[in-house]
Amino acid sequence: MSEIEIRDVAMRFRGRHGEVTALERISLTVPDGQFACIVGPSGCGKSTLLMVAAGLITPTEGEVLVNGKPTVEPGADRGMVFQSYSLYPWLSVRRNIEFGPEIKKVPAADRRKTSSELIHLMKLDGFADAYPKVLSGGMKQRAAIARALAGDPQVLLMDEPFGALDAQTRQIMQELLTDIWQRYRKTVLFVTHDIEEAIFLGDVIYMMTSRPGRIRTTLAVDIPRPRTFDTITGPRFAELRNQVVGVIHEESLKAVESELARA
Ligand code: ADP
Ligand code: MG
Repeated sequence: MSEIEIRDVAMRFRGRHGEVTALERISLTVPDGQFACIVGPSGCGKSTLLMVAAGLITPTEGEVLVNGKPTVEPGADRGMVFQSYSLYPWLSVRRNIEFGPEIKKVPAADRRKTSSELIHLMKLDGFADAYPKVLSGGMKQRAAIARALAGDPQVLLMDEPFGALDAQTRQIMQELLTDIWQRYRKTVLFVTHDIEEAIFLGDVIYMMTSRPGRIRTTLAVDIPRPRTFDTITGPRFAELRNQVVGVIHEESLKAVESELARA
């Protein structure tokens, strides 16, 4: 059991220009083993929501429960992957992956076994001793995912992990992530502004409004798995994409208009 329950979460930031409402009463439940995607225009509060779920910030109202436990601080039950900065630059790939287990005092031999498996699984063979700065963007994010998986968390929280990658690399990463997810069946909350990415990966897509962020529409992705490259060229993919594009376009326009109104 590793359900994520977001209960009436609201977040207001006090800034120099007064209060900013980033999130307004968000509620949703990600059942055990589900891959849930959140899409929405830039600035709608996606990262804020994920930070609350991670326990990195405290919401103004509401709470997030993982396995029924409020996420008031970061915990080993939740693995995080961000767009960048997920790796320690001063540690090798292997040491990065073993960092969490090392803190938890997992015996060295077990750590090593886990990191070796993950290095192979994430296609990083030959790079165990390399430092992050020599890795390509895709490799860095594969290492970051390996690092997040190393503590065997029940839940993965991912904030635009492929956002900085080129389109081809992103596609490969998405295929790899679906493989990993099929294998481990983690409960995943995945944030992206990339509509096709959300459809390819998700069981369900939550579309957010422009700021203040609310859930506007929920869409079940009824494309069978395993999803492959052919999925993207299929007719159902195009239908779903058109549905989501319409909604997100409307919300993005609103975001631009309110930016102009504030300027
Ligand atoms: P997204 O990830 O969807 O692009 P964010 O969650 O990063 O959006 O931000 C939502 C809104 O909250 C933005 O208007 C942003 O400027 C504001 N915000 C985020 N973090 C802070 C903070 N620490 N202090 C003040 N405002 C913030
Ligand atoms: Mg963000």
